[in-house]
Amino acid sequence: MSAPQSVPVLVSACLIGRYCRYDGRTNRDRVLEQDLAARGEQAVPYCPEEEGGLATPRAPAWIESESAAAVLDGRDRVITDGGRDVTAEFIAGAQGALALCRAHGIQRAYLKARSPSCGTCQTHVGGALVQGPGVTAAHLRRAGIETIDVEGKREQP
Ligand code: SF4
Repeated sequence: MSAPQSVPVLVSACLIGRYCRYDGRTNRDRVLEQDLAARGEQAVPYCPEEEGGLATPRAPAWIESESAAAVLDGRDRVITDGGRDVTAEFIAGAQGALALCRAHGIQRAYLKARSPSCGTCQTHVGGALVQGPGVTAAHLRRAGIETIDVEGKREQP
């Protein structure tokens, strides 16, 4: 019997052990790793903020006033807590995520909850947590990629 074929999926790199969070920590989620393996899904790790050109550790950032869609459409910005405009880096990271999905034929992404890049259900606008996706999640969804919100940091029971 041949081994089951693995299906590539995009995964926020911090969810599978990379120390790429803004504060230099990880959100490693061992339950997610277990679930991916059980479903035959092969993680393709990606950190949009690092790939967009930002360093780790880095200043926390949020969408300035409206939404990720407005950022992608050029009507809003992403700024750090010190007021630096990092919109270009966030958009580059989002575009890189979609390019990686297309290169691997990826149709699903597991993304870290509440991130201004990766958040799928909630993100930060104007320094507050609001409903709506981050910049990378919004860009992937526009392209028809399924995005799944993952809390992170879960241990196996
Ligand atoms: S949530 Fe996304 S942008 Fe933030 S550290 Fe994880 S992979 Fe990188």
